[in-house]
Amino acid sequence: MKIIVTGGAGFIGSALIRMIIRETGHEVLNIDKLTYAGHLESLESVSDSDRYQFEPVDICDAGEIDRIFNDFKPDAIMHLAAESHVDRSIDGSAEFVRTNVNGTHTLLEEAKQYWLGLGGIQKEEFRFLHVSTDEVYGELGDEGFFTEETPYDPRSPYSSSKASSDHLVRAWHHTYGLPTMITNCSNNYGPYQFPEKLIPVVILKALQGKDIPVYGTGENVRDWLYVDDHARALLKVVIKGLPGETYNIGGHNEKQNIEVVHTICDTLNELVPKDAGDSYRDQISFVTDRPGHDFRYAIDASKIECELGWTPEESFDSGIKKTIQWYLENIDWCEAVTENNYDLERLGTA
Ligand code: NAD
Repeated sequence: MKIIVTGGAGFIGSALIRMIIRETGHEVLNIDKLTYAGHLESLESVSDSDRYQFEPVDICDAGEIDRIFNDFKPDAIMHLAAESHVDRSIDGSAEFVRTNVNGTHTLLEEAKQYWLGLGGIQKEEFRFLHVSTDEVYGELGDEGFFTEETPYDPRSPYSSSKASSDHLVRAWHHTYGLPTMITNCSNNYGPYQFPEKLIPVVILKALQGKDIPVYGTGENVRDWLYVDDHARALLKVVIKGLPGETYNIGGHNEKQNIEVVHTICDTLNELVPKDAGDSYRDQISFVTDRPGHDFRYAIDASKIECELGWTPEESFDSGIKKTIQWYLENIDWCEAVTENNYDLERLGTA
């Protein structure tokens, strides 16, 4: 298969491309504008492969996207490029609307033109997979789970821009017949996550001896999924998923933020002990809550489990240990990706 991946220099996109090159025979073309969140350092292990190509292109650039579709002739597109950080969307929403809404619209239009020009089996088998978030469903109380039928109720500029893009993707299926699919996934964690999201922020702040910021009382609940499990689910969907369908993806790992922070501190206490008697937990500092902070997200992933045979392989306990170990061994990557373009003092929590 020939697959276009957008946003392949980001956290999840790079995990997906590393997995495709490592574990399949597919060819990949990565379209990425390389914003502050996109780093080719995350793709060093695949950059020499003759099945990997990179195009430094903005997904809003219709002319370039048209050129790439016609030159590369993909069998599928996996669309991950996005502005992805909720705190940044609260500070400034314009780029979120531009990339997440207009960029998705540009890709849909260009994919439609390309797909209409295909013939026979290639037209039937073409797939457009749009990668989205569970945040489009809003927030849950103490009980219940998001299913594929849960009504949309996005509450942040980020989640509303992703919800808008999901609606566009569904409309291009219903109106034009474009074979689109959508996945809505819970919070990812793992290696190569840019140090502005909760888990890398906590690890790095702890190691730097700085305050570890936790929003509110730390009781907000998120469902955590190891990034390779997400990448594996996306590959299942692009190969076996049905056009017009939505698949929720989640890890069955509901944790309060404070539980996650405690787990990281306790693991670091074992791996990189501080002076006798001191704990990384002493660095935790509760900060004013994020405006509109959703209380709880939890995913019912039974559809993808039953229909496509996907289940997560990594437990939270082993995944978080692997992730912490990776950051300990890759401080160079953290320094490289934050150099010149990021104020480390401004690191927020996810
Ligand atoms: P990320 O911020 O790490 O990476 C986004 C990538 O998109 C970067 O490489 C960036 O350079 C690129 N990009 C941004 N704007 C672009 C543009 N206009 N043109 C081309 N490239 C552009 O994000 P991520 O965490 O890897 O998330 C990937 C996708 O998965 C996003 O669509 C996000 O909404 C979705 N998602 C993320 C999570 C999560 O926990 N991180 C969970 C569910 C869904």
